[in-house]
Amino acid sequence: MSVQITRGIKILQNAIIQQDKQLAKAMISDGSFHITLLVMQLLNEEEVNIGIGALLELKPFIEEILQGKQLILPFQGIDTFGNQVGFVKLAEGDHINPLLEIAETAKRTFQEKGILAGENRGFKPHLTFMKLSKAPWLRKKPRERLMHI
Ligand code: AMP
Repeated sequence: MSVQITRGIKILQNAIIQQDKQLAKAMISDGSFHITLLVMQLLNEEEVNIGIGALLELKPFIEEILQGKQLILPFQGIDTFGNQVGFVKLAEGDHINPLLEIAETAKRTFQEKGILAGENRGFKPHLTFMKLSKAPWLRKKPRERLMHI
């Protein structure tokens, strides 16, 4: 994660915490920022090993998609999933294509090995900076907290 992105998210998180100190517990720490490319289910050790194999197979495909170039992903604006998860949105632009291709290739590689991979809701690249599941007691409030961002 670039220094600029990390810095921007920390400023955003601090601004939210200023509004409501309790939300500090819902924040994702900067060492954990990520973009989920694929969600899969690995039910036992054998499936974990198959998953490792798929990941190793995936590497040259990703290298081919990137063709030695760095993929720079700009982020702009924020949104939520059902007021439960706060995320930074991937900006529009050509960078989305290789990212979609990587996610699609990853799904295919795992599925070809018989692993249940991918979600019905499809791939929506985003960078999560807070989620109320980290502080479940905040969910009990009648008003939806993320509405105040
Ligand atoms: P992630 O940023 O992938 O670690 O996901 C953070 C949370 O957001 C997880 O609880 C996911 O289940 C949820 N989430 C991820 N993608 C979606 C989506 N497209 N729609 C609704 N919830 C999502």
